[in-house]
Amino acid sequence: MAAIEMRNIVKEYGDGFKAVNDVSLDIADGEFMILVGPSGCGKSTLLRMIVGLEDITSGDMLIGGDRVNEKAPRDRNLSMVFQNYALYPHLTVFENIAFPLRLNKKIKEEEIQTRVRDAASMLELDEHLDRKPANLSGGQRQRVAMGRAIVRRVNAFLFDEPLSNLDAKLRGQMRTEISRMQRRLGTTTVYVTHDQTEAMTLGDRVAVLRRGLLQQVASPRELYEQPVNMFVAGFIGSPPMNFMPAVVSGNRLTLPFLEADVPATAAGKVTDGQLLIAGLRPEHFEDARLLDPVKRERGVTFRAPVDVTEWLGDSQYAYIPFESNPEVAEELAKLAAELDSEALRSQLIISIDAMSRLRENHEAEFWADTGRLHLFDPRTGENLT
Ligand code: ATP
Repeated sequence: MAAIEMRNIVKEYGDGFKAVNDVSLDIADGEFMILVGPSGCGKSTLLRMIVGLEDITSGDMLIGGDRVNEKAPRDRNLSMVFQNYALYPHLTVFENIAFPLRLNKKIKEEEIQTRVRDAASMLELDEHLDRKPANLSGGQRQRVAMGRAIVRRVNAFLFDEPLSNLDAKLRGQMRTEISRMQRRLGTTTVYVTHDQTEAMTLGDRVAVLRRGLLQQVASPRELYEQPVNMFVAGFIGSPPMNFMPAVVSGNRLTLPFLEADVPATAAGKVTDGQLLIAGLRPEHFEDARLLDPVKRERGVTFRAPVDVTEWLGDSQYAYIPFESNPEVAEELAKLAAELDSEALRSQLIISIDAMSRLRENHEAEFWADTGRLHLFDPRTGENLT
């Protein structure tokens, strides 16, 4: 096991395009780190530079304290699991898992037997050790690929979207297994995904990338509660955080449908009359009729028209359009393009109790947990709260 340290890592492709731009990231020994971000943000490139499949343009990559920039992949002692796992069709499950061990002539047969059976038991493959890959399901095959990765004693495991070819149910199962396996083995792990749930449930910490730049590295809870900027705020959470224009008036904010206090943490950073972007997550709204009195005191109630509702069984989404004055609308459209954000539309998406009986195209009374309001600087996207 080993720590992985990245110092000012840059990956520049031929035309001067920086796929990874000055990334510094320390992954502690035994830590489970998630790399997440939209398509093309550079997460796979970063992973490939750790493994040695991609040259590093500048910066230093350290594994276990050693600089590995010029080390061949086989000398870095890492195990990688890809999205498209390649198993040997003519070998049994046992031999597929044992394969990397057989390459090392120093490992005795007895040890191979123990390690393969251990890995297989962890991945619930015990009963399939004599089968060939053709006779396994997709999920079982992916487990064999994982078994082959964990059977070696390595510095770290690297996963590149290993579950994206599996259906939703299997993904859920495998997620739990990966998490359990990593905790049991305690091996440093770097895991690339664009799946929200994987990012929020698997890792100790999550590194969010955008256009080659590291945005924030934090625990899942901190990312959710304290995103550093609008990009992270809009990227983490589903449906995404609602963004709406907010105008400062003294220590109050005027938002579509409601007013709220300027959050204490933002006081002093905003000026009278300033246009800001306020952010509030869909789950921080509720149907006012279903609200308990304690909650009612904490937030603000307001009336708003419901455009469309979507019933999900355990909750429902209501879509609430709002109008901004044309100048504000134009500002928001510019920001939306800059942030590639779908969240910046002139509507709120709110997630409320499934019991709530809302009628489309009718007004209803809602409640907003304004204590959870974020305020963003519209020029920089920085979170001021
Ligand atoms: P995805 O989730 O779609 O796999 P990603 O975040 O893993 O995306 P990368 O594969 O790391 O993204 O690619 C980062 C950027 O570098 C992309 O814009 C991609 O087009 C570019 N890129 C990757 N490989 C090359 C290459 N060999 N030559 C030029 N540009 C490349």
